[in-house]
Parts: sequence; C-alpha cells; structure tokens
Amino acid sequence: MNVSFTLFRLQAQDSLRMKMNARLKEIDRMIAEDEDVIRANERLTEARESDHSAESLLKDMAAQVQEKKLKRELTHSKLFSGKVRSPKELQDLQAETQALDRTIAKLEDEQLQAMLAHEETMEAVRQAEANLQKVLDQKASQNSLLLGEKHKIEAEIPKVDAQRQALREQLDPEVFSVYRALLKSKGGRAVADVHEDTCSACGVTLPPADIQAARLPNVIATCKNCGRILYKS
Ligand SMILES: [Zn+2]
Repeated sequence: MNVSFTLFRLQAQDSLRMKMNARLKEIDRMIAEDEDVIRANERLTEARESDHSAESLLKDMAAQVQEKKLKRELTHSKLFSGKVRSPKELQDLQAETQALDRTIAKLEDEQLQAMLAHEETMEAVRQAEANLQKVLDQKASQNSLLLGEKHKIEAEIPKVDAQRQALREQLDPEVFSVYRALLKSKGGRAVADVHEDTCSACGVTLPPADIQAARLPNVIATCKNCGRILYKS
C-alpha cells in the first residue's frame, strides 16, 4: 500500500466534501436573504403612501369647491330675493358673488391638478404591485433551482463520506492525525504531488533523494520548504 497515494486520494475527497459544505451554506444564505423582495415591498409602501396623500388632497379640494359653491348659491339667492333693497348692500352682494366665482374657478383648477396627480400616484401603485409580483415569481423559480441543487449535494454526501472513511481505514491513526494537522495548518492542502521535480504546492525544486522517498510505499516524505507530504505517482 502506498501511504502517500492514499493520503492524496483522501485529500481529494476531503476537498470535495469541503466544497460541498461551502456550497450548501451559500445556497441556504441565498434562499434566506431576499433583499429584492424587501426592496420591492418598500417601493410599494412608498407608492401607497404617496397615493394616500394625493387622494386626501383631492378630497380636500372637492370639499372646498363644494363649500364655495354653496356660499355662492346663498349669496345669489339673497341678491335676487327682493328682500335686499339698499343699493350699497346689493352692490356688496354682487361683488361677493363675483369674488366667489373667481375663487371657485381657481379652486377648480387646483382640483384638476390634484386629480391628475392622483392618477399618477395610482399608476405608480399599480406598477409597484406588478414589480413586487415579478420579483416574487423570479425568487420562486430561483429558489426551486437552488433547492434542487441542494438536494443533489445532500444525496452525494453519504457516498463521499463512505469513500473518505474507506481511505481513512487504510491509514495508520498516527499518519492520519499528521495529515489532519497539516490540512488545517496548510490551507486545506496537506499533500503535494511532485511535478517535474518540484513541489506542486510551493514550487521548490526537490532534491532527488526526496523524490525517491516520495515514491516509496510506507514512507512519508515531506517537502523541506513547505512541510507538506510529498506524493509521486
Ligand atoms: Zn513544498
């Protein structure tokens, strides 16, 4: 049995397993956070608030117009009631009617503007609602893809773990703990294969004796430069 080859294969399975873990975490995070939905909801809330303001302004304008019209009607009927005879008083009433006419015309202009503004805010609400629905639909299909990937990875895990266990059982416990310690201290790469007489991890040129040792079964040769276990195919 070639120990360094077993370690090399174990490392491949271990890194695969680490990648799977990282991807699962990433998928969970992507599903949990729905910033797009939050933002679309916020926009809809803002649009509704603007619409409520526009609507109450419009109601207020209508009430003002109504009030002035009523007042003008009263003034008008007083003017033609025949009860008021003093020319001064009649003149005042006439002036008041004219003033009310001008006020009403001005208010009606403002009412029209308010109506147009309200139409715009209603349209903005409709658009914000449609946008939210679009984002929710996108999120749902995105999530179903992510969930599919998650289930696939989860189904793979027992197979990878079984292979890791089988390889581990071939190793001396002491060798295994050396490997685990190196895996931790060397950024997930405890075993380096010899490539063109150099250590593939740190790139240093290896002395022939170390390359020779890396080939031997049951011998653990290490790179003098980076300390990793050497493996030569
Ligand atoms: Zn090295």
